[in-house]
Amino acid sequence: MSIRRDRIRDVLKTGSEGQMVVVCGWVRSRRESKTFAFLVLNDGSCQATLQCIIDQNIPGFALLGQCQTGAAVRIEGELKPSQGKGQSWEVHAKKLELYGEANPETYPLQKKGHTLEFLREIAHLRGRTNTFGAVWRLRNSLAHGVHDFFQNRGFMWAHTPIITANDCEGAGEIFTVTSLDLNKIPRNDKAQIDWSKDFFGKHAHLTVSGQLQGEFLALSHGDIYTFGPTFRAENSNTTRHLSEFWMIEPEMAFADLEDDMQLAEDLIRFLCTWAIKKCPDELSFLSDMYKGMTPDEIVKLGESKFARMTYTDAVKELEKATVKFEFPVKWGVDLQSEHERYLTDQVFKGPVIVTNYPKDIKSFYMRQNDDGKTVAAMDVLAPKIGEIIGGSQREERLDRLEARIREMKLPLDDLQWYVDLRRYGSVPHAGFGLGFERIVQYLSGMANIRDVIPCPRAPQTIAF
Ligand code: ATP
Ligand code: MN
Repeated sequence: MSIRRDRIRDVLKTGSEGQMVVVCGWVRSRRESKTFAFLVLNDGSCQATLQCIIDQNIPGFALLGQCQTGAAVRIEGELKPSQGKGQSWEVHAKKLELYGEANPETYPLQKKGHTLEFLREIAHLRGRTNTFGAVWRLRNSLAHGVHDFFQNRGFMWAHTPIITANDCEGAGEIFTVTSLDLNKIPRNDKAQIDWSKDFFGKHAHLTVSGQLQGEFLALSHGDIYTFGPTFRAENSNTTRHLSEFWMIEPEMAFADLEDDMQLAEDLIRFLCTWAIKKCPDELSFLSDMYKGMTPDEIVKLGESKFARMTYTDAVKELEKATVKFEFPVKWGVDLQSEHERYLTDQVFKGPVIVTNYPKDIKSFYMRQNDDGKTVAAMDVLAPKIGEIIGGSQREERLDRLEARIREMKLPLDDLQWYVDLRRYGSVPHAGFGLGFERIVQYLSGMANIRDVIPCPRAPQTIAF
């Protein structure tokens, strides 16, 4: 026997009068009168609920008492135009079945208006709220959109490793992967951990970025992108950092910083237009609730060019600012999130691409500019969030790259394969990393990044 069912989304979109449907879902509310009752269902397929009328004469009516908020039910019935406002269809039930009750004494989602903090503590149930129903569907649509964008442009989706021995950023904020017995860690004669005895014979960790491997794939296939999980052990309890997040990293051979910026802007604008097309109900619900961008503003963003500014000019702008920053600005410092937000929220009132950062605050692989001070880097900054994309043209000149690796005292031996790419058929190439949760945050208006991924990982946070 099968439990064939119709998704509420499809019923509402393509239903016709008199059509027999089977809907399965969770009860949002129940209202009773003498001879019949209303059950309002949501099945997670869309923002809308579907009202079902349960008459006392139908099989299963006796179960109604158990069909409380949160219970899972199956209803077979006939589709009729709805009298109620805001509803196109309702179901006149012919049969009611109950799958699972939800005890009203203990089911946590009784009433509306729980705080997001509370809902984070019941992450296993929060997907049943309007808010998280909307955010998870938006997240899904954006992921689909990312693939659509790149596939239509002829980029190849490349799978880079999750376990690696290369620390791309050299930042050291990594999670070690080991099978050593932590009670008996082997050490060498200098009392350092002897990684040669570990599973891979090297110090391995979870990847912080797929870029280095992405580069060699671009140098064989031209245009590629990665879309996968990345991990950072930064102990930062902010509203825009996770310890596990998803990153999209395109890498293009035969491309420079200008091409890189264009791709970044095109991608974000495409995702705005895509989201409006795929998730109109979700976006209008979220913008009403959380005061992010309105759907109209998202449409407009999809149509407008991004502002651009060099780091040097950005610093001048920040030095002119009358507001007092917690971190003072001068040429050479890394921009803090308060500075980024000043540029986006006050100066440009929209996203801005900042280019040509000082080489000392950026990674070793970025292409050195002729001024000897800056590199061909670019960050895309978004209002309220700050950096959502970080990218650069890569250093393709062998001598320059090796000199920089030595200068920064990075392990040249471990990076030999990376340097090799400059030895054999080197080409100008460029790419960037887009934090997937940051773009979901931007378009959903959710203030905290922990509310745009089902199971957030952060310091001291790993339940679910
Ligand atoms: P930030 O300055 O915001 O900490 P970053 O400069 O360390 O970011 P990159 O190394 O450039 O970040 O990573 C590329 C992109 O990945 C960033 O632009 C951002 O969108 C995203 N990202 C980086 N770190 C995190 C994190 N901890 N959680 C979620 N997204 C992140
Ligand atoms: Mn960055």
